[in-house]
Amino acid sequence: MPSIPKTQKAIVFETNGGPLLYKDIPVPQPKPNEILVNVKYSGVCHTDLHAWKGDWPLATKLPLVGGHEGAGVVVAKGANVTNFEIGDYAGIKWLNGSCMGCEFCQQGAEPNCPDADLSGYTHDGSFQQYATADAVQAAKIPKGTNLADVAPILCAGVTVYKALKTAELSPGQWVAISGAGGGLGSLAVQYAVAMGLRVLGIDGGDEKAKLFESLGGEVFIDFTKEKDIVGAVQKATNGGPHGVINVSVSPAAISQSCQYVRTLGKVVLVGLPAGAVCESPVFEHVIKSIQIRGSYVGNRQDTAESIDFFVRGKVKAPIKVVGLSELPKVFELMEQGKIAGRYVLDTSK
Ligand code: NAD
Ligand code: ZN
Repeated sequence: MPSIPKTQKAIVFETNGGPLLYKDIPVPQPKPNEILVNVKYSGVCHTDLHAWKGDWPLATKLPLVGGHEGAGVVVAKGANVTNFEIGDYAGIKWLNGSCMGCEFCQQGAEPNCPDADLSGYTHDGSFQQYATADAVQAAKIPKGTNLADVAPILCAGVTVYKALKTAELSPGQWVAISGAGGGLGSLAVQYAVAMGLRVLGIDGGDEKAKLFESLGGEVFIDFTKEKDIVGAVQKATNGGPHGVINVSVSPAAISQSCQYVRTLGKVVLVGLPAGAVCESPVFEHVIKSIQIRGSYVGNRQDTAESIDFFVRGKVKAPIKVVGLSELPKVFELMEQGKIAGRYVLDTSK
């Protein structure tokens, strides 16, 4: 049996927007349905920034340990856990648990459960060395997987993979990824390429343009330079993309996607900028018969499938690894839109 310390390092905040404290806290005890994961690496998702700021219409627990892209090793488990053994690799993802009894859980739409329990939001997450996770929802990661590289798949990967499925596109069709250079976006580009789609990306700056091209994207539009984004997107895709995955944090960009999307196309909403409203002019909406769909992380099957793409080498988030204590700096860069790809925290530092 691995030896489990009594205390551990974590990043904790006591009020939304308050100090991000790097400190020692007790190692939690797993409940009968939970595993205890020695988190080695955790990705930093823009959702963690929303959680810290408290800018969504859903309260976080306080004090809170954020984080929901945790990859690590199972070191203990509750009496009822049958699907994980000590030593297995496990992933902590946004959906920690759901009621499993409501009509949505029954259909496998567990993220839409009204009683969903969320890692790094309503349940202490992966910005700590030891985190508990409901064994039903914890992700299975094959032994030998690089835990730093797989971490961003646990939220960003699952989410964009599911969003692409929600867009119901066929190989050879155009998909636009709005926010293509960020954490979700850089993975969305790769899943889309792996699915045989033609990818147009929208984001800002030369670093993100270069990254986009290195990931197999075809056309990049820089929103900081291009004045007529709608016209440029439609021209490059010969009439507009068949689908749009909105992973930007810009309400204006989201509404714009309803204009440039192709006739009969699908606009998928994923990014959740605070207070955003998606505006679509009704006349064009009807005449073009477009569809706007929301997509919220993914279920257990989506998780397994999206990890499988990673394990087979089809997708890999461009990551920068820094210590857990560096989270405040990562949030600062994220707020400024300066992160190309994903930051991953090493919990040992
Ligand atoms: P990120 O900060 O890594 O990426 C956001 C990207 O949007 C950045 O590259 C930024 O430059 C770009 N951007 C900003 N303004 C833009 C504009 N006008 N046009 C095009 N691009 C623009 O963030 P992330 O971690 O990828 O998360 C993105 C959003 O998705 C967040 O709001 C997050 O909460 C949300 N999210 C939703 C789900 C879900 O299930 N629906 C899951 C995870 C994250
Ligand atoms: Zn996330």
